[in-house]
Amino acid sequence: MSVPTAVHQAVRERANGRCEYCHSPEWVCAARFTLDHLLPRSLGGTDVPHNLALACRRCNERRYNFMTGIDPDTRQEISLFDPIRQEWGEHFVWTSDG
Ligand SMILES: [Zn+2]
Repeated sequence: MSVPTAVHQAVRERANGRCEYCHSPEWVCAARFTLDHLLPRSLGGTDVPHNLALACRRCNERRYNFMTGIDPDTRQEISLFDPIRQEWGEHFVWTSDG
């Protein structure tokens, strides 16, 4: 089952051509970005725009259907970043030191 074209287009426009997780621009990547379900379909997620994020292949594959991860500093299980409900700049920063 595929996401309706109008929904796919709305998410793509909201993301402004960037992966909503890492902010990589789609135009520099060889593969077209895909839609990631924030709440996976396997857990009851639907194809509505606020449950979908435009994602590069790397982010989409790494996130898979996980909702949580282990914080490497605290060793606590925490929710993964939600690009729709959270501010990217409050969680990430670009650095030049790799
Ligand atoms: Zn990405």
